[in-house]
Amino acid sequence: MEQECGVRVMCRFRPLNESEVKRGSKHRIRFKGSDTVVLSGKPYVFDRVLPPNMTQEQVYEFCAKDTVRDVLGGYNGTIFTYGQTSSGKTHTMEGRLHDPQMMGIIPRIAHDIFDHIYSMQENLEFHIKVSYFEIYLEKIRDLLDVSKTNLAVHENKNRVPYVKGCTERFVSSPEEMMDVIDDGKANRHVAVTNMNEHSSRSHSIFLINIKQEHLDTAHKLTGKLYLVDLAGSEKVSKTGAAGAVLDEAKMINKSLSALGNVISALAEGTKTHVPYRDSKMTRILQDSLGGNCRTTIIICCSPSAFNEAETRSTLLFGKRAKSIRNTVCVNLELTAEEWKKKYDKEKQKGVNMKELIEKLQIELSQCGTGVCVPVIEQLSNKKQEELSDRTPIISNGLTSEMPALENGQYEENINNLYKLLDDKDEEINLQTQLVEKLRLQMEVQEEFMASSQRDCARVQEELCSLQRDNEEMRGEVREVLSALEELALNYNQKSQEASNSTHTNRTLSEQLAMKNEMLEATQSELAELQELNAVQKRRTVDVLHVLLRDLSDMGTTICVSEIKMTCEDGVSLEDEFSVVRLFLTKLKSELKSLVNRTKQLESTHEHTSFKILASERELASCHVLISQYQMKIKSLTECVQNAEETRRSLEITQRTLAEEITKLHTYESNRDLCELEKQKELLKITQSQQSQDALTEGHRETQSKMLAQLREEFNNKQRMLDELKEFNENLLLEQKRLQCEYETLRMREQEKEIKLQKLIVSNEKTEHTSDELRGFEETLARQLQSLHNLRKMFVKDLTTRVKKSTVPDCEDGGSHVLHKHKISFLENNLEQLTKVHKQLVRENADLRCELPKLEKRLCAMMERVKALECALREAKQSASRERRLYQQEVDRIKDTIRAKNMACCGHPALIAKPIRAGHHHTFSVTSGREGPTVYSYHHI
Ligand code: ADP
Ligand code: MG
Repeated sequence: MEQECGVRVMCRFRPLNESEVKRGSKHRIRFKGSDTVVLSGKPYVFDRVLPPNMTQEQVYEFCAKDTVRDVLGGYNGTIFTYGQTSSGKTHTMEGRLHDPQMMGIIPRIAHDIFDHIYSMQENLEFHIKVSYFEIYLEKIRDLLDVSKTNLAVHENKNRVPYVKGCTERFVSSPEEMMDVIDDGKANRHVAVTNMNEHSSRSHSIFLINIKQEHLDTAHKLTGKLYLVDLAGSEKVSKTGAAGAVLDEAKMINKSLSALGNVISALAEGTKTHVPYRDSKMTRILQDSLGGNCRTTIIICCSPSAFNEAETRSTLLFGKRAKSIRNTVCVNLELTAEEWKKKYDKEKQKGVNMKELIEKLQIELSQCGTGVCVPVIEQLSNKKQEELSDRTPIISNGLTSEMPALENGQYEENINNLYKLLDDKDEEINLQTQLVEKLRLQMEVQEEFMASSQRDCARVQEELCSLQRDNEEMRGEVREVLSALEELALNYNQKSQEASNSTHTNRTLSEQLAMKNEMLEATQSELAELQELNAVQKRRTVDVLHVLLRDLSDMGTTICVSEIKMTCEDGVSLEDEFSVVRLFLTKLKSELKSLVNRTKQLESTHEHTSFKILASERELASCHVLISQYQMKIKSLTECVQNAEETRRSLEITQRTLAEEITKLHTYESNRDLCELEKQKELLKITQSQQSQDALTEGHRETQSKMLAQLREEFNNKQRMLDELKEFNENLLLEQKRLQCEYETLRMREQEKEIKLQKLIVSNEKTEHTSDELRGFEETLARQLQSLHNLRKMFVKDLTTRVKKSTVPDCEDGGSHVLHKHKISFLENNLEQLTKVHKQLVRENADLRCELPKLEKRLCAMMERVKALECALREAKQSASRERRLYQQEVDRIKDTIRAKNMACCGHPALIAKPIRAGHHHTFSVTSGREGPTVYSYHHI
């Protein structure tokens, strides 16, 4: 059933991109027919050339559709893209994942597989699982589980390499498959800083595993489909790279150069060693290149002249790859019967071989002994061939036995070594995973440790504080206990004392009873006496009433009307006494106030008399002044009269003088008239005239002088008169004023006199009342004394009567004295007993008082102890809870770690969800065998 087929090589050219168009880059390629491309005159022939204008769908039709059909037919398939970066590899493989037009091969396959399945016969059941991983720097990273960073490549029992431990997800619909792709792509972006660079330097591999079972014949077919988006084929520059960078560059180039080497080796067609093991990529693609796989390589090229060199190298790669020939067969899983048949066949073969060996050995021994074996008996070549059908060692004959054996050994050695290498690889992988896990675990543990330490410190602190509290409480408890012990001791003592006391009490009470009897007798006597007393009292009350009446009279006399003396019959003597006392005190206070008032009045009286004296003195001085003034006035009036007289006389003289003057004037005028007449006599009388002139002149002069003098005098007198008049007026005014003052003073004096009179009267009155009061007081004191005496007498009388009544029948003195002694003794005893009793009662009361306090204290202590116990219990509980939590946390961490370990080991339990052919996935409901069965697998 094996058949040979070549690797299909498709060559896709992408259109010029925008920058290339801008740069004016030109096409340097020419397409000739559907399978040839000519680059700078050199033709390259492929299975198909896909020009830039080819749509994604067409590309899928040409490149992948057949492969899908093959895989569903039980073949293995591989599609991978090769080419420089940005030549369109990812565009071809993935495209825009959710764009129906622009989606690439992988999403189209995802849909197409299911379309195929749904169109197939009903009695087929499919199980589809997918894996997604990438290879970067020779490390396989699982894109469906980012924790798997370095997976190893192993070989299965058929010596087919596979990625061990990679996540496999079962899918039952194209949507689920698309989800897986999306997940993988998302994970690819995680922990990658520069996605463009990363994607151009890493290989991404999407693996679809399809297993189908014929439900009727139980035939099982399996098909594996690798969809690989290789890293950019251009060489990573080594110039300037050193150290880690150089190592990285080497690693990046390694898988691609290994791919180139493998393809070259396969292309040469010689049976030389193919270096699949040089890289993980070639290892995974071992079956795809020269093995059991229908492989399609899509070489992606840029049409730009700028990329010509790379394009040429890509075309050469394609050309080389095209010469690879694979041997494909259907991966049919045998049924038990088929296996049995095969086993029988092989067994038969073994038996035949044994026979042949025996025969050959016989022949050989015969040859060795020199016996000639007849030709007829010799094993014919044909038969040998028949027997050694699949045993080349034997068929090569003895001559070729040794080298074949060596070859076999060599192969075996190589295989062993490879196995060892695989194991080591696996070990390394496991170790790295373990390291990673341990690191994570370490981090978690460290975190946990830190938190635990914190918790521990906290708990320890709490514990310390609790212990401290505990110690304190213990101390307190100890104190309380000692106090309690003391109390108990005290209590014992006290109870002892109490019992003693009760005993004495009992005896005393007996005595008391006796005494009581006696007391009753005495009480009856006392009743009698009381009657007597009442009589006495009545008498006393009467006396008191009289007294009170006197007192009230006194009160009325000293105007204490507000104090009423109520003397009712029902009021007790003490009350009346107190009333009297009150009245007396009130009287006293009134008296005191009166005396005070008198004193005050006296002082005011003195003051006023002083004032009166001063006023009198003033008045006397005023009188003197007035008399003086009157004298002055008199003298002045006399003076005025004198002046008047002089004035009159002067006026008379003036008048006489004026008359004389007029006379003189008339004389003069007469003289002037007579002058002429006289002039004649002038001469005659000149001498007389002259003497007469001189006389007249002298007379005139004296007269004028006198006149002037008189005038002056008159003026003076007038002035004096005026002044005197003025003075007189002033004096009159003054007199009037003084008179007024005198009047007012007199009025005041009169008033004061009246006041004085009044005061004197009141003083006399108060003196009188105070005298009276004193008398009253005296009488009151006397009466009080008499009352006291009366009381004393009454008491004495009472005691004598009592004494008499206590010993009414014992007439003789001895027995009376004895009784007296006895009574006094008993009284003393009773007194002492009552004292003791009182003391005991007091002590008991004290103890009783103390008891609740102590009980309270005890209760408080007990409560405190209880609270402390509770706190201790709680602390213990919280500690245990925390310990439990801690344990739980530890368990949880352990569980998660275990779960992680399990997950990392890659052996999760799977639940298969098979897909039944012939039905669309929309009916994907599990049902009986007749219906369309669509199962799905889930990780647990
Ligand atoms: P690679 O994966 O080889 O590095 P990409 O697939 O990422 O290259 O392609 C680079 C760019 O070229 C992308 O933007 C892509 O859309 C575009 N491209 C590639 N091939 C085609 C094509 N056939 N048609 C249109 N655009 C393309
Ligand atoms: Mg890419």
